[in-house]
Amino acid sequence: MKPMQNIDTFLSIDRISRRALWRVYLVAFLILFAVITGSHLLAEVAAMKQEQHARIINLAGKQRMLSQRIAGHIEVAARAHTPRLAVIGDILSDINKMEDSHLRLTGQTADTVDPTLSDQVRRLYFTAEPSVDDRVTGFLAEARDLIAMIGSGAPVDRDRLAGFVGSARGRLLHALDGVVNRYQADAEALLNQLRLVNIALYIVALMVLLVELLVVFRPLAKRLDRAQSDLANLAQTDPLTGSWNRRALMQGGETLWALGLRKDRPFSVVIADIDHFKRVNDTHGHATGDAVIRFFAETCLAAIRDHDVLGRYGGEEFVILLPDTAIDEAAAVAERLRASLSAAPAEVADGARTVTLSITASLGVASRTAREHTLHALIERADEALYAAKSGGRDRVRRAEAA
Ligand code: GH3
Ligand code: MG
Ligand code: MG
Repeated sequence: MKPMQNIDTFLSIDRISRRALWRVYLVAFLILFAVITGSHLLAEVAAMKQEQHARIINLAGKQRMLSQRIAGHIEVAARAHTPRLAVIGDILSDINKMEDSHLRLTGQTADTVDPTLSDQVRRLYFTAEPSVDDRVTGFLAEARDLIAMIGSGAPVDRDRLAGFVGSARGRLLHALDGVVNRYQADAEALLNQLRLVNIALYIVALMVLLVELLVVFRPLAKRLDRAQSDLANLAQTDPLTGSWNRRALMQGGETLWALGLRKDRPFSVVIADIDHFKRVNDTHGHATGDAVIRFFAETCLAAIRDHDVLGRYGGEEFVILLPDTAIDEAAAVAERLRASLSAAPAEVADGARTVTLSITASLGVASRTAREHTLHALIERADEALYAAKSGGRDRVRRAEAA
């Protein structure tokens, strides 16, 4: 018997490639982990930014509304003969609100809504000519002046009032609209950027999965497939001769047996044992004995048909299953095998040289009878016939007694 080989050889996974697979798998895992985490953080940032932009846009929108209300109320109050104090209070409150919002929008107070004023917004507010900051502060100063005049009962110059209201409804409104639009455009641009980054991350994740599929899982599946069929072969094959081993013979034999029984077809077995095999071992050594067993198996294979099955039953004892075969035909197969063995001596290696050995075998043949229920029982009956062939002088075929 050959020594049992290391299982890794059969699994075809050497340590180095296993380590390489692990490394690829680990790298892919880490990339995927980073991509998924990055994607999640990106979504958080996007949500936060969106909320901030919504707050800013809302506040900028309110400035428009306040400016129009202030201008409108001042116009009405200036025309009234005796403006009520409550109205003046309301207008002053609106002026303060608008000033406060302006400081918050432009980052001129700790309570700012836009801590990272973008360059474009900053330009619009401060460096443009004229800047929104100038317009708003100018508007607020003029509003305060007018309210002071109205409050003290002094007459308000009609042209000045018309200029104030006209500019509030025209240039100021336009400037405030510009700010809101700028903020809206900024928000959209940022969201588009984040969306692009997210798509890039998605593509990276897909690529990693694809690489992992091609580099790790596909080869692994192939190897497992191969290893599985290697193991299955190994479990069924006799390593010395390549014929079925006893386990496979009995398992496969049961299937053939059942099939024959269902179709009511004949079923025969031949059991063959080399004569005086111990002498080969004793004279030429175990290795030559192995070579003779191999030669014997080859001769058996050459004598049987494709759908017959050869299995090594014991040391130098082989069983041939012959489905669809009645006793006469099975005995003819056995006789053909016996004759070809005794006709052609085995040429086998004996150390460095080749020796020619005359090999004979005794064979027992049996066919299933109606009273026989198991393959094992049939083989036992063939074995009795083999024993009869041995005691009858060897190198012969014997049919089993009827069951
Ligand atoms: P007989 O004619 O009565 O069959 O005589 P025999 O010498 O062949 O006797 P038997 O069948 O009882 O002996 C089988 C011998 O085969 C015994 C065992 O040492 C040897 N043997 C069993 N397996 C192997 C093997 O794998 N290789 C070799 N070289 N010898 C084996
Ligand atoms: Mg023998
Ligand atoms: Mg034997």
